[in-house]
Amino acid sequence: MWTCIKCGRVFKKENQPHSCQKVSIESHFRNKDETRELFNFLLQQIEKQIGKCKIFSLPCCVHLFGTYDFLAILPKKDRVELRFALNRKLNTPRLKISVPMSSKVFKNCFDIYTKQELDNELMGWLKESYHLKD
Ligand SMILES: [Zn+2]
Repeated sequence: MWTCIKCGRVFKKENQPHSCQKVSIESHFRNKDETRELFNFLLQQIEKQIGKCKIFSLPCCVHLFGTYDFLAILPKKDRVELRFALNRKLNTPRLKISVPMSSKVFKNCFDIYTKQELDNELMGWLKESYHLKD
């Protein structure tokens, strides 16, 4: 594991090319009060049910880092899009899209509109992703 001294992000490879640019969390939620609330609720649930994580606000999205970057959160006007890796393709109508990253890892994407959608099933998948690289 290598930590970039400029931006504090952690990578598998030393000197992994990346953008050190960080943006404020607020800039992701400008004029998106309801999305911000949903985001705060999601963070609370993760801290409570899964574990500690660091927040990295990048130009593209917000990353949550547990033992690795386990979750990308993309704030939209009426929802947040969640992207996380699992070692299987989820078979659920809730899934928006699943993209193979390798023969063993799939990136799963979900659109979340309400707090009710952050239920046990979804939190279970996030937990699985959090522990994927233990
Ligand atoms: Zn950096």
